[in-house]
Amino acid sequence: MNPRETPVSSVVRALDFPVENQNSCRDRGYDSFMPPSLSITSAGVLSFEKARHLVEEHAAQVRPGEVETLDLLAAVGRVLAEAILADRDFPPFDRATRDGYAVGAEDLAQIPTRLQIVGEIKAGDWPDPATCVVAHGQAAGIMTGAPLPSGADAVVMVEHTSPAGAFVEVRRAVSRGENFVPRGSEARAGQLLLDRGRRLDHAGIAIAASVGRSRVQVFRKPRVAVLSTGDELVGIDATPAPAQIRNSNSYSLAAQVQAAGAEAVRLPIAPDERTRLRALIEEGLSCDLLLLTGGVSMGKYDLVEQVLAELKAEFYFTGAEIQPGKPVVFGSCGSCRAGAPARLLTSEAPSARPGVFAPNKKYFFGLPGNPVSTMVTFELFARPMIEALSGLPPQPLIFLRARLKSEIRTKTGLKRFLPAVLSGGFENAEVELARWQGSGDIAALARANCYAVIPPDRERIEAGEWVPLLMR
Ligand code: AMP
Ligand code: MG
Repeated sequence: MNPRETPVSSVVRALDFPVENQNSCRDRGYDSFMPPSLSITSAGVLSFEKARHLVEEHAAQVRPGEVETLDLLAAVGRVLAEAILADRDFPPFDRATRDGYAVGAEDLAQIPTRLQIVGEIKAGDWPDPATCVVAHGQAAGIMTGAPLPSGADAVVMVEHTSPAGAFVEVRRAVSRGENFVPRGSEARAGQLLLDRGRRLDHAGIAIAASVGRSRVQVFRKPRVAVLSTGDELVGIDATPAPAQIRNSNSYSLAAQVQAAGAEAVRLPIAPDERTRLRALIEEGLSCDLLLLTGGVSMGKYDLVEQVLAELKAEFYFTGAEIQPGKPVVFGSCGSCRAGAPARLLTSEAPSARPGVFAPNKKYFFGLPGNPVSTMVTFELFARPMIEALSGLPPQPLIFLRARLKSEIRTKTGLKRFLPAVLSGGFENAEVELARWQGSGDIAALARANCYAVIPPDRERIEAGEWVPLLMR
């Protein structure tokens, strides 16, 4: 990247570096390299990179839900379960891109010159092959979006012409092929335009609409259970007693789940009490994914892991060397809930790794309860699983970069994702940390618009240095 040219446009494609590139990981915002073949057995507290990679490995094993056919606009944000092909050539004819005159470029070898007008073609007209043919010394008026008449091989812009009766004076030469797009040059009939596994954004919708697809096949949205735990929590409509806290995490998580393209199923608040917690976890495991918040730290009443262990959960990690969010937990339950409905599968080939993919296996994340930790760990770990369950292929974690406005001092040992404010335009974008009181400070997060990513081995980052940013 040339920093002077593109201050905040450096895209870091994380976690897919080939082995020979390991040294560049630090430059790109990653301080260690993980081999692609890391096995799905590690547990304990992992580096951010290992933890993320493990999630990605598991995400690669899951399958999206059933296919459904939706009206085009109901499918916005959904993931395509079918490929969309060009139904005809794009453009379907040599399409003028300017208003002006269709000409033979050779006729303009000497300018100015006078050409005879043989007709006019507006968008939607088909030039009459009997009358509207551009021969030597002739031109046809043409509008943007209209088909080029035969005999013409360029369009001269109207700004460079002066019509006079049956003739037009042309003051500027054009090259062959100028100001029109040749038939089929964007796509040939039958060519793949959108692949299966592509999320339908407005560009995809334009393509589906252009090929006449008023209904499209997409994957069902995954259902993601959101379960907040904690004796101190009350519903957001309640008036909290002095020591109580409104359950904001259920709502912020549901918002993140929805923004990731899934359906959030908010469960009732789970108390820090085994029986009720277990019943709600079991309920959550009937969804495609379970997100818990709270109860995963070292406190006496942090029961989430214990209850999951009672349910024979397999844990892949029980912490990541990050801040905020260190106590984050990732695991799965095989057939935790007797009689749980098996998730219907598409007709895809089974997993390439026998034994890893089990149709009844349900993944869960135990996200730390501190609201900022909940939000950060969702972005870093839960999102890729939701995307996989939605039918998306693996998406790289993308970082921008900006210059640091003022010096940062931190302790080493953890990779930090600190709420930060990116400001300025493209030419002078700079970032500074938001003032915050730690992982519970949602007011600071609301003032921020990104996270500055601080590597675990840096005590001090000076003003003016480039730092990676995770946008939100
Ligand atoms: P925990 O992870 O359960 O130890 O909780 C850490 C902190 O986050 C505590 O201050 C909790 O009160 C707070 N917290 C936990 N769950 C929620 C929630 N659902 N909404 C808002 N704050 C929460
Ligand atoms: Mg708690």
